[in-house]
Amino acid sequence: MALDWQKYDLFQGTEEHQLLRQTMVSFVKDEIEGQALQNDREELFNLKLFKKMGSLGLLGLTVDPAFGGAGMDTLSSVIVHEELSSSDPGFCLAYLAHTMLCAHNISINANEEQKKRWLPKLCSGEWVGAMAMSEAEAGTDVFGMKSRFVEKDNHFILNGRKMWITNGTLDENNTPADCVLLYTQSSKKEISTFLIEKSFEGYHVGQKIKDKTGMRASNTAELVFNDCKIPKENLIGKEGDSLTHMMRNLEIERLSLAAMGLGIAKRCLREMNRYANERESFGKKIRNFGQIQKYLSESYAEYMACRTYVYNTARTMKLDQFGQRLNSDAVKLASAQMAKKVADRAIQVLGGYGYVGEYHVERLWRDAKLLEIGGGTNEALEKNITKEMEEKKF
Ligand SMILES: Cc1cc2nc3c(=O)[nH]c(=O)nc-3n(C[C@H](O)[C@H](O)[C@H](O)COP(=O)(O)OP(=O)(O)OC[C@H]3O[C@@H](n4cnc5c(N)ncnc54)[C@H](O)[C@@H]3O)c2cc1C
Repeated sequence: MALDWQKYDLFQGTEEHQLLRQTMVSFVKDEIEGQALQNDREELFNLKLFKKMGSLGLLGLTVDPAFGGAGMDTLSSVIVHEELSSSDPGFCLAYLAHTMLCAHNISINANEEQKKRWLPKLCSGEWVGAMAMSEAEAGTDVFGMKSRFVEKDNHFILNGRKMWITNGTLDENNTPADCVLLYTQSSKKEISTFLIEKSFEGYHVGQKIKDKTGMRASNTAELVFNDCKIPKENLIGKEGDSLTHMMRNLEIERLSLAAMGLGIAKRCLREMNRYANERESFGKKIRNFGQIQKYLSESYAEYMACRTYVYNTARTMKLDQFGQRLNSDAVKLASAQMAKKVADRAIQVLGGYGYVGEYHVERLWRDAKLLEIGGGTNEALEKNITKEMEEKKF
């Protein structure tokens, strides 16, 4: 959808975007908010609620309607991630892994036959998807991955392990996701992409990773591949050509993670604004104290600066093109740090109450911390940004 941005407000977008925002605000209020605290405490992923998002057209948000998707754009992804994260960032991370890292990636990089085979199930919620890049010994250093595939008797055979995979398991019983979009290497050390289906011989969930600091409403798992037999038709793209898939998908991933930072900050601002009006100390509402005003005002200013940067990056990012690396990295770097800082100030404004779960901001602080690690650490982004600035002769 090519937009004439002269006509639209940066944050509102088109009527379609406004409708999406209204849908999300109602869905979050009616369905997400009530379950967020408990699922964080119990480390549970709400699969039933997740599947319901399929009937709202949210699980294939950017996928072509010909394959069951909603056919929406980059700004739509920002709206959905921002609103979900204002209530339940953990649940939102599971949504991101399924929708942007798996379904969206397939819709951009797979062939027509593969899209027909997989996308309708991912868009409806019949299947839950994941994306596996990281390994225990290789996160930032992608080319350090140790998993390997070889071609044998009209199949590919994969050996190795993947670590930290969101949606890698769906429950406490190590039930695998229905499919995993997986990056791995051949002996030539060139990256290829496969879609691993849960029925494949030689594939199982190693363990659910428990006791995470935050994002506890999403499952994270280790995946194990022992001579896993992959049919040739599950190779996405050509053998060895996946560096571009990976880099292109990282752009929308990082922008969506930046939008999650906005959602966290917006909620924390609302919580501290409300509390500063209710709480009295020394006979005055605490919003009259200069130090509390500094927490509120600086948080608002930093949130709005980031929000403008996120929405402007969404405005110019094309889903099927490569080339927004500098801004997708920089906007995630800025928004992740802003979200954690705003959540930290919110805890401070709420005092002792801010430190307990019922008041939400401590959970949001714990969730915000992941944004500085997942999808590229702060340090990795700093390295990339510095390189890009040199290359682009900024
Ligand atoms: C809750 C959660 C969910 C996740 N979900 C997924 C998922 O769905 N799929 C997936 O593939 N992965 C996922 N990850 C993995 C995540 O992307 C990695 O943890 C992240 O990329 C960092 O990799 P690492 O943990 O191996 O740390 P490392 O890369 O080993 O980094 C350790 C430290 O060294 C620093 N460092 C490393 N290299 C450099 C360098 N060149 N310059 C400066 N500093 C450097 C890092 O910034 C960091 O501070 C998830 C992680 C978590 C915690």
